[in-house]
Amino acid sequence: MAQPRKSAVRTTRGPEHDHARCASDALARAEQVCQERNVRLTPIRRRVLELIWRSHAPVGAYELLEHLRENGRRAAPPTVYRALEFLRDNGLIHRIESRNAFAGCEHPNAPHTAQYLLCDECGDAIELEIAGLARRIETRAAEMGFQVARQTVEANGLCRRCRPDSSTHAR
Ligand SMILES: [Zn+2]
Ligand SMILES: [Zn+2]
Ligand SMILES: [Zn+2]
Repeated sequence: MAQPRKSAVRTTRGPEHDHARCASDALARAEQVCQERNVRLTPIRRRVLELIWRSHAPVGAYELLEHLRENGRRAAPPTVYRALEFLRDNGLIHRIESRNAFAGCEHPNAPHTAQYLLCDECGDAIELEIAGLARRIETRAAEMGFQVARQTVEANGLCRRCRPDSSTHAR
């Protein structure tokens, strides 16, 4: 298989983070989730998910199309959009609204609303799991007579690795 042209895989969680392992675990989880739900992770869906998991930086649809083309696969835009829709419907990826891009979900077994930390420097997206936050927003909105259809909670800043004083903060 052709090597990816773009820069080396970036990792989020400090130098000890084994992203190859992290990505292969994510794909294995995806296979399992699809099996349990009796839906098919077709080659194109799998390929798109693989590309999204190349790093923790969200990937846009256009970039996905470019990668697929580089690897000699003819993928029409609608095919990729449908694959993205499938992955999203099955909770395997989340859409990062502010970047118009997609990131792999780290715990796709149960449906949830994700919150994200977005690094301004390396571009990584870090999924947060704040118990009850989505519900609290919905409840508060309901008190104000507002019915929430979608939620986007995205915080921007610098990740542990990109902070100038990151060495003193590394755990
Ligand atoms: Zn990783
Ligand atoms: Zn998630
Ligand atoms: Zn960063």
